[in-house]
Amino acid sequence: MKNKIYLSSPHMGGSERNYVTNAFDTNWIAPLGPNVTGFEKDIETYLGNKSNVAALSSGTAAIHLALILLDVSKGDEVICQSMTFSASANPIVYQGATPIFVDSEPETWNICPLHLEEAIKDRIKNGKKPKAIIAVHLYGMPYKVDEVIAISKKYEIPIIEDSAEALGSTYKSQNCGTFGDIGVLSFNGNKIITTSGGGALVTKNPDVKQKAIFLATQARDTAPHYQHSEIGYNYRLSNICAGIGRGQMEVLDNHISLRRQMNAFYQEIFHDIEGVSVFTEKSKDLFSNHWLTCILINQQKIGFSPSDLRIHLASLQIESRPLWKPMHLQPVYKEAPYYGKNISEKLFATGLCLPSGSNLTNEGKNRIKIGIQDFLNKYL
Ligand SMILES: *Cc1c(COP(=O)(O)O)cnc(C)c1O
Repeated sequence: MKNKIYLSSPHMGGSERNYVTNAFDTNWIAPLGPNVTGFEKDIETYLGNKSNVAALSSGTAAIHLALILLDVSKGDEVICQSMTFSASANPIVYQGATPIFVDSEPETWNICPLHLEEAIKDRIKNGKKPKAIIAVHLYGMPYKVDEVIAISKKYEIPIIEDSAEALGSTYKSQNCGTFGDIGVLSFNGNKIITTSGGGALVTKNPDVKQKAIFLATQARDTAPHYQHSEIGYNYRLSNICAGIGRGQMEVLDNHISLRRQMNAFYQEIFHDIEGVSVFTEKSKDLFSNHWLTCILINQQKIGFSPSDLRIHLASLQIESRPLWKPMHLQPVYKEAPYYGKNISEKLFATGLCLPSGSNLTNEGKNRIKIGIQDFLNKYL
């Protein structure tokens, strides 16, 4: 049996172990310590733009704290890109608020500015101005930042920038994660760098960072005893995990270049194939880390569906996966309002994510290439 090739698996650089060993040697096995502050500094330096970073236990926790910091509470409405991972939307419900889902546009697959504005106008007409906009850089592809910011400014609604999949991506040369009123990163096991599990909240305001850390560490007032005037959470990253993160930051740029090479690898495989297109940047303003490379399949033209190819690859121990199923199609969100047409639905029906890890060997890449070409040959 051949080893399975995964969509995206952890890829250690080498020095992670030194940071973790150091944490053991100094007995900093806690949700604070030098690796946590070191990791935060590393990300702040990387992102630039006067970023302040609070390291947290997950990207989901970062989105939850972002909503709390923007004062989202029971009965409020929050706009969210429909085509995304459920973690973008679930924290809205944790707060007792209602998600209002918005369709994607076809160029970046992210929140459509036209439908975003339509949604805001209609919600205001219905009597409630949305409290925040959650926009996502899906698969590492930046959303239409200028357009979304213009709408945010026009209606004075803050943006939570879900950059969980887009660390290292840029829009007009500025790092993703630094555009929103609050930015969100994830270091889950499948992301471009990982701490096994972890996330971060990004803000230009150092007071917001301190407030995030306060809420993430059980909202303890300054007193010798344990005193609380607010509800807190246990959302801080541990010093062990942060040690892995410090090692991973040393290899982030290398991972980006390897993931981008995977995108080029698929572009070459599908170059002459009419009916299959590889998702890539359609404008010079966009630079994607290509966290995952996805393809769109025109079944009428080529004769097979995304699931035909997926099942074929699975028989070769090669993982592939449909695109994110839009939230407005999820059973759990069937009651939530939705604004848009069927762009995200079409993407979901015709797309497939292919193995994109930065640690794929030449042998693995060959297996993928031959596996895809053998399959294509049946239809050409
Ligand atoms: C992974 C991910 C998250 C959540 O991050 P976790 O660290 O897994 O909690 C949020 N949004 C998107 C788009 C993601 O891909």
